[in-house]
Amino acid sequence: MEESVENLQGVLDDIASAAGEAGRAPGDIDLVAVSKTHDAAHIRPVLRAGHRLFGENRVQEAAGKWPGLREEFPDVRLHLIGPLQTNKVRQALALFDVIETMDRPKLAREIAKEAEKTGRMPDCFIQVNTGAESQKAGVIPEEVDAFIASCREEYGLPVRGLMCIPPVEEEPSLHFALLREIAQRNGLAELSMGMSSDYRVAIAFGATLVRVGTAIFGARTPYPAD
Ligand SMILES: *Cc1c(COP(=O)(O)O)cnc(C)c1O
Repeated sequence: MEESVENLQGVLDDIASAAGEAGRAPGDIDLVAVSKTHDAAHIRPVLRAGHRLFGENRVQEAAGKWPGLREEFPDVRLHLIGPLQTNKVRQALALFDVIETMDRPKLAREIAKEAEKTGRMPDCFIQVNTGAESQKAGVIPEEVDAFIASCREEYGLPVRGLMCIPPVEEEPSLHFALLREIAQRNGLAELSMGMSSDYRVAIAFGATLVRVGTAIFGARTPYPAD
């Protein structure tokens, strides 16, 4: 068996046990397999094993591999989990079912405009910069309630939930708790939080989506720009 398929099963087992410990049903947590930097040949075994939910960071990279994979596996669901530039919105909406990284009015406006033109509306998550880190994307916590309201009222976007990436040096649970609190007061059901190193913690704090790359596909070669 491919190592990635064994890893996938291990992560699914872990999700089930973390859910059990938290008194939650395993089926309430979806696994987004993060396949960024990996080519189609490396992703295919995980698809063959029956997994259908994937995440990618870059529009251009996803455009190179997912249209082909979708022909083989039409029921794939693809989440964009990296920053989206407004000039790539059209291409992103053609490729992705869910945009997890909505974080500014200009982007919300562009997504709404493009969705109206094409009739294809993605589910949207708002990325919250819970650590208010200057180099990181996302809406800062003080501004998120107003942004959620404007996405709903001004742009008519289907906001499903929130997403965060905690600061690397900090205890993630504080950030997960903050994200959950923001979601609760805004009536949002979905929480995308938790990566390879902390998805069990995220599940204890209510994650409904965990985004796991390394623990499934192995170590990545960093992007040249990183
Ligand atoms: C790369 C990435 C992940 C997956 O990270 P791992 O540590 O490899 O599990 C999750 N979320 C986002 C936003 C990412 O960019």
